[in-house]
Amino acid sequence: MFRANESYLKLPGDYLFSEIAARIQAYGQRNPDKAERIVRLGIGDVTLPLAPSIVAALHGAVDEMAAAESFHGYAPDLGYDFLREAIAEADFAARGARIDSDEVFVSDGAKSDCANIQEIFSADARIAVCDPVYPVYVDSNVMAGRTGAYCTVTGLWSDVVYMPCTADNGFAPELPDADARVSLIYLCFPNNPTGATVTKRQLQAWVDYANEHGAVIVYDAAYEAYISDPELPHSIYECDGARTCAIEIRSFSKNAGFTGTRLGYTVVPRDLRDADGVSMRDLWARRHGTKFNGAPYIVQRAGQAVYSDQGRRETCEQVAYYMGNARIIREGLAQAGYEVFGGVNAPYLWLAVPDGMTSWQFFDTLLESVQVVGTPGAGFGPSGEGYLRLTAFGSRDSALEAVKRIQSM
Ligand code: PLP
Repeated sequence: MFRANESYLKLPGDYLFSEIAARIQAYGQRNPDKAERIVRLGIGDVTLPLAPSIVAALHGAVDEMAAAESFHGYAPDLGYDFLREAIAEADFAARGARIDSDEVFVSDGAKSDCANIQEIFSADARIAVCDPVYPVYVDSNVMAGRTGAYCTVTGLWSDVVYMPCTADNGFAPELPDADARVSLIYLCFPNNPTGATVTKRQLQAWVDYANEHGAVIVYDAAYEAYISDPELPHSIYECDGARTCAIEIRSFSKNAGFTGTRLGYTVVPRDLRDADGVSMRDLWARRHGTKFNGAPYIVQRAGQAVYSDQGRRETCEQVAYYMGNARIIREGLAQAGYEVFGGVNAPYLWLAVPDGMTSWQFFDTLLESVQVVGTPGAGFGPSGEGYLRLTAFGSRDSALEAVKRIQSM
């Protein structure tokens, strides 16, 4: 009889958002009159429609697909040059970072890349993650059999190095001890879930650490568009020496509303080589070519439109709209006496729950008493206990309404 992959069987419990959905559903069944009132600031999904320039590019590309002379079949595995060149120029060269277009690998989004990147590293690679953390980094390594045993009491894996991000360290992780022997470090700034950011000097210290200890940083910059402080780095390649130790993952989901359209990319520089001189860029190209058949032509044309003058203006306006929500939530909750972090250069707010409550208890309290939904911090890791994540991705009305209701509690 066949057997399932035993690494998959190690994955604990329900995915965080399934549990949240189940609690909302149960609440709605018990209180049908209040179900319609629920304001959802839980899942980090955008709500504004695609910008006009992006929609126009989609329409144009669909029309091309309708004519034999301009029809496109399989896309190049690694992405169309028109998009890779636009990315290399606008996201890197314009910020003083040297990334060639053939070091850019276009994909169907950052989630797949975050989950798949571990495949090109050795089975005994030791991973380090922030705690709390976007769950995909750890779960994909669990599936690959790299994380050891799970402790149901602590919620931690025996072979993973956790880097606590707490109010005491400004939600910026500290460098692991040298004897931790980490080889794959996942960092995400602006951070999901805490909304924290790092300065260029802080990020440079990570790059120096990785180069010194022979580690690789997987830098998830899915939220870089939300940075408004000119002192903060948008890309890890703004740091000296990052080309020999860093992979960067980007998404079109949150800067341009592509959560349902699907587009992202990963940068693997030529200079990133393992202990034997193996080119990680070439390995990723090999992996991509074997397992991925390219993002759709029409979607890559839409991605190109994001970099046009009009596309930039329109997507910046969308980001500004969400950041307006973030300000309303941050200031409104601070006025109500809550301690709130994030929400300045990030679309996430990290709310300290009232003393004596766990984050799930506070989640239930908000749902039951004012029908506002957030995400319990404990769902992102043990150091997330005591916090609730709120997102700025809803409508202006939902941000205003949520604040009004929480203030009334
Ligand atoms: N990385 C982080 C930190 C995220 O929060 C998300 C989505 O919420 C992703 C990656 C996934 O992005 P995409 O929609 O491009 O798959």
